[in-house]
Amino acid sequence: MKIKFCGGARTVTGSSYLITLDSGYKILLDCGLYQGHAKELENFNREWPFDPKDIDCLILSHAHIDHAGRIPKLVKDGFRGRIISTHATAGLSSIMLMDSAKIQKSDAKYKSKKGLATHLPLYLPKHVPKALQKFIGIGYDQWFKIKSGVKVLLRDAGHILGSANVTLRIKEKGKPVVMIGFTGDIGRPGRPILRDPVIMPQVDYLICESTYGNREHASTPNETSKFLNTILKTCVDNKGKLLIPAFSVGRTQEILYMLDQLESSGQLPRIPVFVDSPLAINATKIFSAHPECFDKEMSNYLLTDDNPFGFNDLYYINKRERSMKLNDAKGPCIIIGASGMINAGRIKHHVYHHGRYANNTILLVGYCSPGTPGGKLRRGKRRLSLFGEIVPIKAQVVTMDSFSAHADRVEMAGFLRNQKNLKNLFLVHGEYDTQQEFKEYLGKFGLNRVEIPTLRQEFKIR
Ligand SMILES: [Zn+2]
Repeated sequence: MKIKFCGGARTVTGSSYLITLDSGYKILLDCGLYQGHAKELENFNREWPFDPKDIDCLILSHAHIDHAGRIPKLVKDGFRGRIISTHATAGLSSIMLMDSAKIQKSDAKYKSKKGLATHLPLYLPKHVPKALQKFIGIGYDQWFKIKSGVKVLLRDAGHILGSANVTLRIKEKGKPVVMIGFTGDIGRPGRPILRDPVIMPQVDYLICESTYGNREHASTPNETSKFLNTILKTCVDNKGKLLIPAFSVGRTQEILYMLDQLESSGQLPRIPVFVDSPLAINATKIFSAHPECFDKEMSNYLLTDDNPFGFNDLYYINKRERSMKLNDAKGPCIIIGASGMINAGRIKHHVYHHGRYANNTILLVGYCSPGTPGGKLRRGKRRLSLFGEIVPIKAQVVTMDSFSAHADRVEMAGFLRNQKNLKNLFLVHGEYDTQQEFKEYLGKFGLNRVEIPTLRQEFKIR
């Protein structure tokens, strides 16, 4: 049996790992898009390190684009097997893959119009439904037979809605059972809406993420009061607008749930709240359709409030024209929109129009790459280049960092604590420096057989 590292090797995005059984049966774990800019990975998204026609089955850990983003291309290029994921991941994949197809299409159009070098999109919106037909949704915590001798178990990863860690139990003729695990992205305990990550069964070989392998998140007390104070100061005292750049899937729903709770307890002032992102609107519908993924607190909350993402003064904005009207809107309001890094999407327009006034506030709730407008604001820069213009930012900038969806190294080591029989632990989905530090850190917990595979490296296992 072999494991080949087809992506997410010494880098964070492009997750993809191929397991080939002795019989030749091929299982692909994740089929993610590479989202970085490394020169040597320029063609990563276009070139397969295998023939898609030869893959028998794809197991998807969760719907983030760096894990799922090449699935329509895989199907377009000849994959004929099934795609196994949780029900919620199948649901989220439908909107996220369509969104990805549309972004690729409009990017290519924009670049060719500007005479910039461009590639054809990896796939078009019309390819997405064909890929979605291949999904089989399965529930958490039940062994599902893929084929004779091969079963898969998905357990809650607590990372985004529907996210799972993957365990394979493989019994080939005349050979002992081999257990192979893939952590997917490991979430964090104690976050809103979702359940805590559930540890995996003991396995022989484990493919483990390492995004924050050198980091320990600062302990953040319940930030609801900080959130409420920011709202009151901006919208009541200063009569300003509160802009919240947030990823459409996950972060936006967490913010809405917090607002819903504040409204239910009578603490939220009567000001309009706008969710200005078509993807966020669709994602919120999928969240509402999957209560099986909710934690106890959220399930109890549902008994008193059947719509945790909706309240009196909340408005979802789909049409572009209505979004543009917010540019001239008078009076206080809260605007939530993508992208979380302010490098694209409707929130970029709102920051352009409203960021220049001192009575407004920009609230940053997520990770921002250093080069993006969000990253610059985080570093204290107050002049942003937006739409070809230098915009002085006079608005207050507030950050809330309690929202990270990735476990830090302490939480990851805790997640691995039950693994006593590992023959190998393969670190993936992390930058190489981080992985080296994480490898050393894991050594303190007796996890010593740690490999940091390179791209396309293959390991014989058993
Ligand atoms: Zn993820």
